[in-house]
Amino acid sequence: MGEYIREINGKRLSPESLMMGYGYRPEWSEGSLKSPIFQTSTFTFATAEEGKRYFELAYGLDEATQGETQGLIYSRLNNPDLEILEKRLTLWDDAEAGLVFASGMAAITTTALAFMEPGSVLVHSAPLYGGSDHFLHHIVDRFGVATIAWEPGTNIDDLHDAVAGRPIALILMETPANPTNALFSIADARTFADAHSSDDHAVPVVVDNTFLGPIWQHPLAHGADIVLYSATKYIGGHSDLIAGAALGSSKIMAKVAEYRTILGTMATPHTGWLMMRSLETLSLRMQRQEQNAQVVARFLADHPKIDHIGYLGHLKETDADFAIYKAQCDGPGAMISIWLTGGETEAFRFLNSLELVHLAVSLGSTESLVQHPASMTHAGVDPEDKKRYGVTDSLVRLSIGVEDPEDIIADLAAALDKI
Ligand SMILES: *Cc1c(COP(=O)(O)O)cnc(C)c1O
Repeated sequence: MGEYIREINGKRLSPESLMMGYGYRPEWSEGSLKSPIFQTSTFTFATAEEGKRYFELAYGLDEATQGETQGLIYSRLNNPDLEILEKRLTLWDDAEAGLVFASGMAAITTTALAFMEPGSVLVHSAPLYGGSDHFLHHIVDRFGVATIAWEPGTNIDDLHDAVAGRPIALILMETPANPTNALFSIADARTFADAHSSDDHAVPVVVDNTFLGPIWQHPLAHGADIVLYSATKYIGGHSDLIAGAALGSSKIMAKVAEYRTILGTMATPHTGWLMMRSLETLSLRMQRQEQNAQVVARFLADHPKIDHIGYLGHLKETDADFAIYKAQCDGPGAMISIWLTGGETEAFRFLNSLELVHLAVSLGSTESLVQHPASMTHAGVDPEDKKRYGVTDSLVRLSIGVEDPEDIIADLAAALDKI
């Protein structure tokens, strides 16, 4: 695939303007304005020589010549719906290359496996999404890789001794953290990674940016090597697909691509097509969600049934996370953590009383969603860790959608009154 329009008369076009067509040419598909779903497992080669050349490039047996691009081979390696989508995703984070996956967990595990070596350590922020926590604490250790937790409110520099001279496989950060909205400094992780890097071992900083999506935080601009997404959330945005994405430099993504090809963790053409459709309204949806969240957070903040809320838009200068927020976030987003007065009984009564806001895990969708992390998404997290990171029985996690904000408030108010 060749070059596509990126600017007009020197004016660089915004991702919002490019989501409808970038990376696709109607002449590939009978003039079809929209990319079809390339629902095929395999692609024909014009000649045996062409097939041989495509494989040479795919397996890194030879370097591409000037202007030469990877040809289509087989849908586990590449497919137009995924390639066009990957091109579009690179625009939001100003990345050289991107890869889409069957799920956010596929993106995280495939990326981690690409850098893990027996005897190495994986440094991670905590808390993490429940699935990532399970991967690190029940799977990674079986491969001879140790994990070191970077806890909220602490400085990563305090972890130099814990590394004890071992090679660091990667630093995996989730900021803001799911489900508490705790923040971690990407710049500090970069400095730490560089201190543990050498000429033959560069420590990658990998940021799970699911909570702020591709609009409200751009980790690559703050020193990260790879930005990851559960594209099931804001990128998909309609609670109708499961997918993941990873973006970074061409060099680092080539390594992750090798693992995706062999592990077979890519997304399907149909999911790729659905995500392209979603990307056309990504910015509109997320802007509305953020506006709504600001209105809802104001209502929740002073409610007598609520002990306190975690919302990035309400951080005060005296909060430890405020400086990190100012340094690396472009907006407060639409995720609100609510610590109710009481415990599980009160939280469940609230959840069971909601009528408009749906009781379901996941987030970032057009409809507002609410769930109870301690017994749901984070049920498998070690009880001591839950306590330490504030994942208590009184916590409910709210994802604000695109509804009328006054209707969301009416529903929340009625349910809070039932406690
Ligand atoms: C949902 C989520 C994941 C997992 O993504 P899936 O698409 O469900 O596999 C990973 N990280 C975070 C922060 C999430 O919220």
